[in-house]
Amino acid sequence: MTKTRPHFDDIFMDLASSLAERSHCIKAQVGAVLTRDTRIISIGYNGPPAGTHNCDEEFPEAGCPRDSKGSCSLALHAEQNAILYAAKIGASVEGATLYVTLSPCIACARIIFSMGIKRVIYRDSYARYKGIGVDEGVEFLRKFGVLVEEYTHKTA
Ligand SMILES: [Zn+2]
Ligand SMILES: [Zn+2]
Repeated sequence: MTKTRPHFDDIFMDLASSLAERSHCIKAQVGAVLTRDTRIISIGYNGPPAGTHNCDEEFPEAGCPRDSKGSCSLALHAEQNAILYAAKIGASVEGATLYVTLSPCIACARIIFSMGIKRVIYRDSYARYKGIGVDEGVEFLRKFGVLVEEYTHKTA
C-alpha cells in the first residue's frame, strides 16, 4: 500500500485553521497563510496590531468594541496581518496564493487585488458568517481576475 501524501492545499489550510485558534478576538477567529510555489511567504491571524490590545483579556465580558458592521474595531484582519508582515520584511507577495479560513471582506479584497495576489482559497464564507446575501469580497476579486476557490479537502 502506498503512503498517502497530503496535498499542499490541505497542509496550508490546516495551518491557517491552527493559526485562527491563536486569535485573541472574541467573535471571529480567522487565520491566513500566504504562499508561492508551495513555499510559505507569511502568515497571519485576526487581531489588533501586535503590542496593542488583546480583546479577550481586556474585554472578557463586553467583547471587543464594534464597528458599524459589527466587527472588532481594533483588529487587523488575518489577510492584512499576513500581507503587512510580508511588506514589513520586504517579501514580495506578487503572484502569491492566499489561504484563509474565512473569505475576504471587501476591504481585504481591495488590498489583496492591489498587492497582486493571484489566487485565494477560503474555507468558510464571510457572507454566510455575517448573514448577508453576497460575498462582496469574493465577487470583487473574481470580477478583476483573481482566482477564488472554496476549499475542499484534497488529500485522498
Ligand atoms: Zn477584537
Ligand atoms: Zn477583511
